[in-house]
Amino acid sequence: DKVLLEVKGLKKYFPARGKGEDGNKRIVKAVDDVSFHILKGETFGLVGESGCGKSTTGRTISRLYDVTDGSILFDGQDLAKMNERELKPFRKRMQTIFQDPYSSLNPGMNVAQLISEPLGIQGFKNKKENREKVLELLEKVGLKPEHADRYPHEFSGGQRQRISIARALSVKPEFIICDEPISALDVSVQAQVVNMLEDLQEEYGLTYLFIAHDLSMVRHISDRIGVMYLGKLVEVAPSDELYDHPAHPYTQALLAAIPVPDPKVRNITAPDGQAEMPSLSSAGTGCKFASRCPFATERCKQEEPKWIEVGPEHFAACHLCEENQ
Ligand code: SF4
Ligand code: MG
Repeated sequence: DKVLLEVKGLKKYFPARGKGEDGNKRIVKAVDDVSFHILKGETFGLVGESGCGKSTTGRTISRLYDVTDGSILFDGQDLAKMNERELKPFRKRMQTIFQDPYSSLNPGMNVAQLISEPLGIQGFKNKKENREKVLELLEKVGLKPEHADRYPHEFSGGQRQRISIARALSVKPEFIICDEPISALDVSVQAQVVNMLEDLQEEYGLTYLFIAHDLSMVRHISDRIGVMYLGKLVEVAPSDELYDHPAHPYTQALLAAIPVPDPKVRNITAPDGQAEMPSLSSAGTGCKFASRCPFATERCKQEEPKWIEVGPEHFAACHLCEENQ
């Protein structure tokens, strides 16, 4: 299968307030040496708690941010080093759908304007063609023709997300970064939007990077899943393999915290019950999960775990996994 996106050694550091213990300026390593690939037509889920760097990874790949280091090969070309002019042809091939559709939709534009705006001056030749295209896209995302002349505030959260999906589709992208697109929606609406995204993927041959904080949300839609913790990718595996045989202690903790549908059964929290993640800027060598990991040893605190293959297409960065091989 053809690789559409290959991220290699990606780093995105931000300057932070104040100085570190060594007297140097502090930096936040939001994305710290992350590597993965996505095949054409595949959905790659990227999961982790809020603040783990998953959204920053998405925003860096789509070059909403400058890149600190590493490469972003999209269809073989490295976006990491491109300037805005060079990026321009790639901006349409790659779209992002954000968590909060309301903030990404201009409230002063009606739906027809919102959907056709990304086409810009290279849009359709005439108003009639434009209108037809808008109505076609509305139908694809399950909205009605009469919705074209309404404004964002007249819609529910789920409908607004459908509008932003239609807007993203208008430029015929190949790759869509779905940045927690269903997290803000009612549970009853979430499955509808996910099913629609899957149908659109099939119809248009789309490739997705699907970002979520909850593993239960990505299992169904993802072919493979990557788990992030404090700026690092800690495990990558095919979706079912990750659920059936999670190798990394952090993935195991995340899975244990999946809400159980039976209200009588209480949710289980991370193994040590520690709710807060250590800060992204807290420096230190060794495994980033060591302060929360029930299996941490002295080695874990000293030495950064290497990325090792623990099964077919299954990788993890953990000393324990290495020792158990
Ligand atoms: Fe836990 Fe050590 Fe594995 Fe890190 S390397 S997840 S601290 S066992
Ligand atoms: Mg799929």
